[in-house]
Amino acid sequence: MTDTPPPSMPPAKPPPKSPPKSHGRKSVRPSLKPRQLMDSHPMLAHAWTAQVITLFPEAFPGVLGLSLTGKAMQEGRWQLDTIPLRDFGIGKHRNVDDTPAGGGAGMVLRPDVVGSAVEAARARIHRAAPILYLSPRGRRFDQTMARDLATRPGVTLLCGRFEGLDERVIEHYGITEVSLGDFVLTGGELAAQALLDATVRLLPGVLGNADSTEEESFSNGLLEHPQYTRPAQWNGHDIPAVLMSGHHGEIAKWRRARSEEITRARRPDLWATYEDTP
Ligand code: SAH
Repeated sequence: MTDTPPPSMPPAKPPPKSPPKSHGRKSVRPSLKPRQLMDSHPMLAHAWTAQVITLFPEAFPGVLGLSLTGKAMQEGRWQLDTIPLRDFGIGKHRNVDDTPAGGGAGMVLRPDVVGSAVEAARARIHRAAPILYLSPRGRRFDQTMARDLATRPGVTLLCGRFEGLDERVIEHYGITEVSLGDFVLTGGELAAQALLDATVRLLPGVLGNADSTEEESFSNGLLEHPQYTRPAQWNGHDIPAVLMSGHHGEIAKWRRARSEEITRARRPDLWATYEDTP
């Protein structure tokens, strides 16, 4: 673990425009199948772009191909490009890893291999798209980071495996480390999909109802109020009467109060920030 804060991301650029109908698209068709580095398909010119450097390109799009994120990909609102680390491997066996200097368990991804993949990724994406390494040592991913990423042209994600990356690659490229939380996964792919899901749903037009990102947890510094739907009575439990009253002012007041109550009880950290915010 390190106490040093990760280097900050490059400055934000204005959000990419919503995908144009034809301009800049040539004959490119949005598709659920992630492009791979060596594919001849050109990229969509204006779509928000995720590049993922991974030993397991077959793990993508994974859940991102489903539901709203999948539909948005098919509509060309965003695109996913996998960069298979194996393509940059060394020798006949395309080796990507080696034993840790100084000894110890496991294997470490080689800096020359990862470096070549990073170079290939950098050549393909806008300069304002940050490169992030999914890592348990990183800054904890949160809604603010998702919102920031959604305003950029895209992102390059580096998925580790084994014991992770040679430190020199991280330093050399000034790569920001981002963690999903205080637990250890076997690889960065699930973390990358979680980060992308949280970001892509904030892109213009991805959610049917834009209001839902304004009222949900974290957007106003609070956790969300409880939700209910039909049937009005279930197993002897009623929906709170105020929600059935049709009185919008009272409903908003009730929701605000529940939001505050839940945040204060469950997340003293969020509550303290909320109270301090004028
Ligand atoms: N030896 C490392 C853990 C390696 S886990 C350590 O102790 O810090 C293998 C890979 O899984 C990592 O390189 C990273 O890409 C991914 N990973 C594991 N836990 C993660 C987390 N909490 N958030 C994001 N990525 C994680």
